[in-house]
Amino acid sequence: MHIRKDDTVEVIAGDDAGTAKSRTTGRVLRVLPGENKVVVEGINRVYKHLKPNRRNAQGGRLSKEMPIDASNVLLYCGTCRRGVRIGRRYAADGHKERYCKKCGTGLGTLSKPREAYARK
Ligand SMILES: [Zn+2]
Repeated sequence: MHIRKDDTVEVIAGDDAGTAKSRTTGRVLRVLPGENKVVVEGINRVYKHLKPNRRNAQGGRLSKEMPIDASNVLLYCGTCRRGVRIGRRYAADGHKERYCKKCGTGLGTLSKPREAYARK
């Protein structure tokens, strides 16, 4: 999966997708690798309406985010200011990182530095 928890992503497809002029971004709250889905803050929210009862005199509504398909989101690149496709590479000190395929900016560490992959 190309997305991890706490990543900022752009939603590019589905009901909550943005447009080129107004991009929709959010933080990843949960990743469901088995289903290839992610839960993004504020995206695909569903509401449950509650009638007033003895414990809850006001009633009201609860909201929560439902998972969306991971292919509907792209990792957000702060340099490009949009969701981008990513690659993986070894950085100079030998740690593995994700990077933006558009501009080359590093987008987060994936592993500890390993001597064998360091550039001397
Ligand atoms: Zn970029």
